[in-house]
Amino acid sequence: SRILAVYGTPLPGPPPGAVLVFHDVTELRRLERMRQDFVANASHELKTPLASIKAYTETLLDWALKDETVNVRFLERIDEQAERLNQLILDMLSLARLETGQEVFEHGPLPLAPVIVACLNSHRDRADAKGLQLSLELGELDEQSEVKADEEAIRQILDNLVDNAIKYTHEGGSVRVSCRQTDDAIAVEVADSGIGIPRDELARVFERFYRVDKARSRELGGTGLGLSIVKHLVQSIDGQVTVVSRLGAGSCFTVRLPRFRPLDARI
Ligand code: ADP
Repeated sequence: SRILAVYGTPLPGPPPGAVLVFHDVTELRRLERMRQDFVANASHELKTPLASIKAYTETLLDWALKDETVNVRFLERIDEQAERLNQLILDMLSLARLETGQEVFEHGPLPLAPVIVACLNSHRDRADAKGLQLSLELGELDEQSEVKADEEAIRQILDNLVDNAIKYTHEGGSVRVSCRQTDDAIAVEVADSGIGIPRDELARVFERFYRVDKARSRELGGTGLGLSIVKHLVQSIDGQVTVVSRLGAGSCFTVRLPRFRPLDARI
């Protein structure tokens, strides 16, 4: 429903004419609600690790400092929670820069294959440690396969998707990255054999702080902002991101990127 607001003060005497200003406030209200939700969510997310740090330091000051069986363990927990806070703040700043358009992007040409290979290599140790099979199919991608995009943006997008695929897949499962190329786009698929996402929550996973299972995500070091950052990055480089998933069977995120053709260089 559209809500119309009319602004204007009646003038004394016979009106010389009327000025009506129609303003659609539905969008303003929606934005204000989003801002309030963000502040509430962010405060809550920041409070959780902080409360944990405070509980550990208080216990240490109380009695645990002298107890050598627990004091190092408590300090390790404090360190973990401080790292969580750090990650949360970095993600929030990154999202804020994206949303206010402060981030400046290059528009290629960028050869895509080396960026994908480097990303997978950086995750190989984690996948091995979990007994996951991490595989790559470059398909028809070759050195001519360039996209109109910024290297750092692509690196962050792939990094988030592969990181999630590893996080949300049980030991012994698989994560497969594959590429398809058409005349004007290159699609990169990150598919896993993991826990999957319930159908009615699929669209919401790109929302800030939305998590299917908050406790599990926190335990795995998630901030709930990764996919929201992916969505903004993809939009900034005129790409598209989609997801299909089956609960208990796995998920597949596809990123479509505009291809750089030699003709583009002459425009
Ligand atoms: P988080 O830091 O919690 O991983 P994201 O924004 O990256 O935050 O993802 C949001 C939520 O989407 C996750 O908490 C998880 O519930 C779900 N999700 C993301 N990727 C996957 C995946 N590959 N498999 C299953 N669930 C996923």
